[in-house]
Amino acid sequence: MRKKIVAGNWKMNMELAEGVALATGLNKHFLAEPLKNKEVIICTPFIHLGIVSSLLDAPGLTAGAQNCNDHKSGAYTGEISAAMIRSTGARAVIIGHSERRTYYGEDDTLLAAKTAEALRNGLMVIFCCGEVLSEREGGIHFDVVQRQLERGLFFLPEDEFMKCVIAYEPVWAIGTGVTASPAQAQEMHHFIRGLVSKKYGMAVAEETTILYGGSCKASNAAELFANGDVDGGLIGGASLVKEEFCNIVNAL
Ligand code: PEP
Repeated sequence: MRKKIVAGNWKMNMELAEGVALATGLNKHFLAEPLKNKEVIICTPFIHLGIVSSLLDAPGLTAGAQNCNDHKSGAYTGEISAAMIRSTGARAVIIGHSERRTYYGEDDTLLAAKTAEALRNGLMVIFCCGEVLSEREGGIHFDVVQRQLERGLFFLPEDEFMKCVIAYEPVWAIGTGVTASPAQAQEMHHFIRGLVSKKYGMAVAEETTILYGGSCKASNAAELFANGDVDGGLIGGASLVKEEFCNIVNAL
C-alpha cells in the first residue's frame, strides 16, 4: 500500500513564535486524534526547522524543509545543506517548487543535483512538477510534466526513486484560488503513474505516492483525494491555519 501524505508548505510565512505555536497546536491535535495510515509533514522555513522538529512527537507527524542546496558544504553564503536539514531531525525536503523554478531560476539540472544531495542525506524528496497556464492552454501540459520528471527525477536508480514522493502542482492553481478539477488532477496523476511504470515498472508505480497541490483546501480536498491516483496533497495557504489544515488531513 502506498503512503498517504498531507504536506504543508508554509513558504515564507510566520515569525518564529507563530510557527512554533502552530506546530505545537498540530502536534497536540494529532496526539489526541492519531494519524492512522497517514503521514503529515510540515515544511517550515529554515528558521523554524530545528525547534519544530524537536517538539513534534505525535506519531506520523514530522517536519520538512522547502529547499536545500546542491552542495555538501562550504563557501555558499546564505545557503543550507541537506545534511544541516537532516541534523535538525527533519525528514523531508520539497525540491522543484514552481516558486523556486520561477523566482530563483532553478532548472532541471540543478534540481536533479539537489534531489541527489537530499537523498544522500536520508531525506525524503517531495519533487514538484506542473505546467503554467499557457502550457495547459497550448495542450503541452503532459509534455512539460514528463520533461520535468525525466530530467529531475528519473535519473535515479529504483531504490533511490522509491524514497521520493511526486507532487503535481499546476502552477495556475498555486495560490490563485483556482483548483484543478478532480478530473484534471486524476488525469495528470494517472499519466504520471504511467510514466513511473514505464521507467521503473508497475510495482514501483503502484508504490509511488503522488500528491496534488494548488489551492487545495478543506472544502475541496475530499473530492480531489477521492481519485484513485491522488494520494494526498501539498498544501500552501491552507496549511497556515490549524483547523483548516486538520480538516484537509481528515479528508484524506
Ligand atoms: C504550494 O505552494 O505548494 C501550494 C500548493 O500553494 P496553495 O495551496 O496556496 O495553492
